[in-house]
Amino acid sequence: MKSKYDKSRRKFLHDIGLAGLSIPFISAVGNCNEETKKQKTMSAKNGKLGIALVGLGGYAGGQLAPALLQTEHCYLAGIVTGTPSKAVTWKEKYNIPDKNIYSYDNYDSIKDNPDIDIIYVVLPNNMHAEYTIRGFEAGKHVICEKPMAITVEDCDKMLAASKKANKLLSIGYRLHFEPYNLEMVRLGTQKMYGNLKKISGGFGFRAGPSQWRLTQKYAGGGPLMDVGIYVIQGMCYTSGMEPIAVTAVEGVKTDLEKFKEVEQSLTWQFEFPGGLIGEGITSYADNMNFLKAEADKGTFELTSAYNYNGQKGNTPEGPMNFSTVNQQARQMDAFALSVKNNKKSIVPGEMGKRDVKYLQAVYEAMRTGKRIEIK
Ligand code: NDP
Repeated sequence: MKSKYDKSRRKFLHDIGLAGLSIPFISAVGNCNEETKKQKTMSAKNGKLGIALVGLGGYAGGQLAPALLQTEHCYLAGIVTGTPSKAVTWKEKYNIPDKNIYSYDNYDSIKDNPDIDIIYVVLPNNMHAEYTIRGFEAGKHVICEKPMAITVEDCDKMLAASKKANKLLSIGYRLHFEPYNLEMVRLGTQKMYGNLKKISGGFGFRAGPSQWRLTQKYAGGGPLMDVGIYVIQGMCYTSGMEPIAVTAVEGVKTDLEKFKEVEQSLTWQFEFPGGLIGEGITSYADNMNFLKAEADKGTFELTSAYNYNGQKGNTPEGPMNFSTVNQQARQMDAFALSVKNNKKSIVPGEMGKRDVKYLQAVYEAMRTGKRIEIK
């Protein structure tokens, strides 16, 4: 059944330049069998741009590589890894030639490899800046995972490197390509239910034991850096506004050992222009996943907002109903088209830097207990 919003939504997608990606009409993601995989690899270079994934961890292996078997404008051409055994498995699984397999030591020589057009940095947060900058120095376009970096200064260096190389930078903000979240954008920014009065969101999960995400050095913070950033994004794209001030309170630590370096949970309140309030919560100890907008004529919300699939949404006129898409495939195809058309990404480095500035403001508010103005 098609949503009753389809017509105006199509116009909205057209207006924001995403209609060409057929986002709402793509059928649910299926398993790629061996034959399809082989065909995809054989036809890989037919006009497609080559992507090299840097850092073969959970996200690269679980989401990005499978998504690259479904992309129309790019394909998995190469890998950069510090783990030799992964090089062996990935080579076999994705049919990657030896000449396109790199370690962190010979990463810079990727500049001589014409198969690689785009570097996708999927490393721990503190490594994003270095590997993005080295990617630009190698003359490649770059997608960098969220958060763009740990400091605003690093974001500036990444943007400068992009400019100097005259290559494009995009951040891995997959939800800008996901129909339910795009519907929140449409309903909020087009004021379909009047002015927004309040917007709230929460994203949290129970983090596993010791890993880089629990260290200040590698992660730059706790759940705020990792998943709270989605809530900040959701508030901004739904309202179409940018926060001007923030207050924040750290949650109580129930596990002092596990959370000795980073916050276990955190709540914050943004002030937006015109008096709109944004209430956010993020946690490494509780499951939550929502984005809610209260407007003059009713509430619209996602009760499952940020996952790779399974979004659920409600409006005053009934539930949202959209097809499942492969968010990562849409995101990477959109960037490949940006590169082909020499057009800025709709999720550019500037947006990543803006969000790192908000993350830092939330932490400053949390640490000082003061209302921090965001400039
Ligand atoms: P993982 O820990 O699963 O993988 C990180 C990989 O980075 C490792 O497997 C390793 O790959 C490489 N690496 C290099 N040096 C180190 C080091 N010192 N410590 C740990 N790993 C190292 O992380 P994720 O894949 O979950 O996250 C990677 C990035 O992607 C993060 O920035 C995260 O925020 C982002 N992310 C984004 C998501 C999204 O939905 N957009 C979802 C999940 C993560 P190798 O062995 O190949 O060298």
